[in-house]
Amino acid sequence: MEYTTTDAASTQAVGAALAPLLQAGDVILLDGDLGAGKTTFTKGVAAGLGIHRNVKSPTFNLIKEYHQGRLPLYHMDVYRLEGVGGADLGLQEYFNGSGVSLVEWSQFVAEDLPQDFLMIRLQKDDDDFDRRKIIFTPHGDRYATLVDQLAQQLHTN
Ligand code: ADP
Ligand code: MG
Repeated sequence: MEYTTTDAASTQAVGAALAPLLQAGDVILLDGDLGAGKTTFTKGVAAGLGIHRNVKSPTFNLIKEYHQGRLPLYHMDVYRLEGVGGADLGLQEYFNGSGVSLVEWSQFVAEDLPQDFLMIRLQKDDDDFDRRKIIFTPHGDRYATLVDQLAQQLHTN
């Protein structure tokens, strides 16, 4: 499934539309270059879960937990683990936990990822500075269902 946005607020709105569909233990990997909108998307998910905090990329502490919303949100930015991996981080406890995990730069902890997840790729546009293509690729039945539900949400709004 693909969806195009033309400003940051619309990317947040897609995240906010996804939020009510999420369940404990869901794992979402956010793929895309620096500045593509991974953290922007996460802000929308947080808002949709009812987390009214300023969500920033946790590049220096790697993982930030938010417990104010409908479900706990575990926001991970593992950019600093390039070439290191996530072996010592206890990531599985987050992935199997009672919250939702959103992971930026998940390729750097590839060995530690669960088998099933939703991959969301954000792509910048060569011509339009504010345009992003958002590509949803489910891995596993749970996430196929989730993407179907999200597609319905986005097309009926
Ligand atoms: P990342 O976490 O992928 O490095 P950020 O979300 O931190 O990226 O930054 C994305 C930047 O791009 C923000 O400054 C945001 O305002 C801007 N932007 C412009 N248009 C969009 C869009 N359509 N979707 C998401 N972000 C956008
Ligand atoms: Mg970021």
